[in-house]
Amino acid sequence: MRKNRVLVTGGAGFLGSHLCDRLIESGNDVICVDNLFTGSKDNIRHLLDNPYFEFIRHDVTQPIFVECDQIYNLACPASPIQYQRDPIYTTKTSIYGAFNALGLAKRTGARILQSSTSEVYGDPECNPQPESYRGRVNTIGPRSCYDEGKRVAETLFFDYHRQHGVDIKVMRIFNTYGPRMDIGDGRVVSNFIVQALRGQDITIYGDGSQTRSFCYVDDLIEGMIRLMNSREGFTGPVNIGNPGEFTIKQLAEMVVELTGTSSKIIYEDLPVDDPTQRKPDITLAKKELNWEPTIALRDGLQKTIDYFKGVI
Ligand code: NAD
Ligand code: UDP
Repeated sequence: MRKNRVLVTGGAGFLGSHLCDRLIESGNDVICVDNLFTGSKDNIRHLLDNPYFEFIRHDVTQPIFVECDQIYNLACPASPIQYQRDPIYTTKTSIYGAFNALGLAKRTGARILQSSTSEVYGDPECNPQPESYRGRVNTIGPRSCYDEGKRVAETLFFDYHRQHGVDIKVMRIFNTYGPRMDIGDGRVVSNFIVQALRGQDITIYGDGSQTRSFCYVDDLIEGMIRLMNSREGFTGPVNIGNPGEFTIKQLAEMVVELTGTSSKIIYEDLPVDDPTQRKPDITLAKKELNWEPTIALRDGLQKTIDYFKGVI
């Protein structure tokens, strides 16, 4: 007897595929819905023969009719290069995707978790960012399709909760890295590691003084599952991320050291609206979920470097 029937939208992506692994391992029946816009069957190939795992190629901007007990809504391109490739479609995915997933939750009575983002804080004026901070997002810039799409999705989650009693959990994910990041998706950790392993120049955008806080994927997935199974009535939003804050220059230097590369660090233009600082306040996650990250950046980077050595 499997525990729950769990729907994962975006299940063939970086985070979604790790989530599917964990859900299968802990005895659930998993339905993975993905249109492979940025994800890949390679990420879930090892699950395709499992009788408790089903893959459905489907675009979440359209409704889907399945029966389930829990829904993790992850479908959405997440890296700036990918979400800016077709920005209108990114907003559609966030908003129509949220409507459709919430409609399904309303009909089935399933509990539903939204993968929101630290991007809802925009370029923040306070550091670290607590959940009560309302953010500083440009409504018309190149990042807005993602940031505002995710903000509206949060609004929809809370309106479905208040208006229809849907059982919601909203998670604000901070930069996460690890095996199965796509080589070409342009995020900083995968870029730096791939550049270092190939002996190419390591490209810092701007002067490298901007900061990010990097969470290893296993820690992130643990937080996500704890949030889904948290006490009745706890909706979040809750920050999940690693509060260790590093400048992008420090990250580049750590990658150079760990890979032993002869690549040199070069500086390119900073993209428009690139946030200057980002660090989660995880007081709420500690209190409600008894969660905090356990994997230091150096250790997580080593695991990620070992993974990329096998795929490039
Ligand atoms: P990803 O691009 O690897 O995964 C996204 C998945 O969604 C892909 O498999 C893609 O094919 C699928 N998808 C996109 N549009 C779709 C559509 N219209 N219909 C069906 N499937 C669609 O990205 P990820 O890093 O795994 O991110 C997963 C979720 O977590 C996203 O919602 C993202 O916004 C959120 N998030 C991630 C991070 C991070 O650092 N990785 C940070 C904050 C938030
Ligand atoms: N970045 C960089 N070089 C790269 C890719 C990204 O310096 O090759 C910078 C980027 O400008 C940003 C930070 O690294 O300041 C994190 O970028 P990423 O795209 O990973 O995530 P996000 O900006 O969404 O946090």
